[in-house]
Amino acid sequence: MSENQGGVAFVGLGRMGLPMASQLVRAGVPTVGFDVGPAARESFAAAGGAVADSAAAAVAGAATVILMLPDSGVVESVLGDPEVVAALRPGTTVVDMSSSEPARTRALAGKLVGLGVAMVDAPVSGGVARAGTGELAVMVGGEDTDVARVEPLLTRLGTLYRSGGIGSGHAVKALNNLMSATHLLVTSEAVLAGRRFGLDPARVLEIVNASSGRSGSSENKWPRFVLPGSYDSGFGLRLMLKDMRIAVALAEQVGLPSRLGADAVEVWARAAEELPADADHTEIARWLDEHAPPPAGA
Ligand code: NAD
Repeated sequence: MSENQGGVAFVGLGRMGLPMASQLVRAGVPTVGFDVGPAARESFAAAGGAVADSAAAAVAGAATVILMLPDSGVVESVLGDPEVVAALRPGTTVVDMSSSEPARTRALAGKLVGLGVAMVDAPVSGGVARAGTGELAVMVGGEDTDVARVEPLLTRLGTLYRSGGIGSGHAVKALNNLMSATHLLVTSEAVLAGRRFGLDPARVLEIVNASSGRSGSSENKWPRFVLPGSYDSGFGLRLMLKDMRIAVALAEQVGLPSRLGADAVEVWARAAEELPADADHTEIARWLDEHAPPPAGA
């Protein structure tokens, strides 16, 4: 594999990373991808991307390293790999687009400074569909000069929203997902209760969506993934639980513990224990239905 001179190294070609990296390729951005999964690497090659056989090979010579990995632990292990450290050149900007932990992101950015490498956090919202069309919401934390360097690249992936200094994007992202997961939980409880009362769930959603109870869960997730029974949003239940825990810990740290958030975490954690490892997060609705007590008199 030749050196990725001045281009993008994209590490993590999963449900989100693959369509995002493919979007860069379509936009003509020189991009070398790597994933530990051979199937992910093959899919990226099929999309026209150049594939490296290690993270270090992808990173060698790159001006920008984009990470789209499961969590902070994996991000730290990739960036802590001695071969990657040796391959990172001074002046490189690392952009962590994964939904990571803000405090760990700040600590990592501090370590990278020692290598002459800048870091920006840029987690996203919008799911697999919007990843494929370059229409994500991108929450950007970092120093202005570092963000300015990667802005033209990131705008290929979606609309940028500056959130503040390093780690702030990851903080907003986790807080967003705590809200999203809690909406989905209460929307599911309410729609399922309505159905047991004898209401048509589709009609309940239609009315709620013209009323004050509406949310992304009532307008998007329930109609698209729960009502048809497909449960295929492409966002894993365990990844959602990870984000909720990050947000609940953050609230605790700043002295404003989220009681509702902690309760929601408890329910999602029980679902995560009982559902298969690859369960989609929208399966929380099916799990709730199956685990709710039977109707009185049944
Ligand atoms: P995913 O599990 O589909 O993809 C993660 C990829 O990382 C996998 O292909 C895996 O093989 C790869 N990987 C793991 N360890 C690696 C390593 N050491 N080196 C190289 N590759 C490695 O997850 P996803 O759904 O794409 O999510 C990625 C991140 O984006 C997560 O932080 C998630 O919370 C966040 N996110 C997901 C969605 C969504 O809708 N799926 C939306 C917004 C944000």
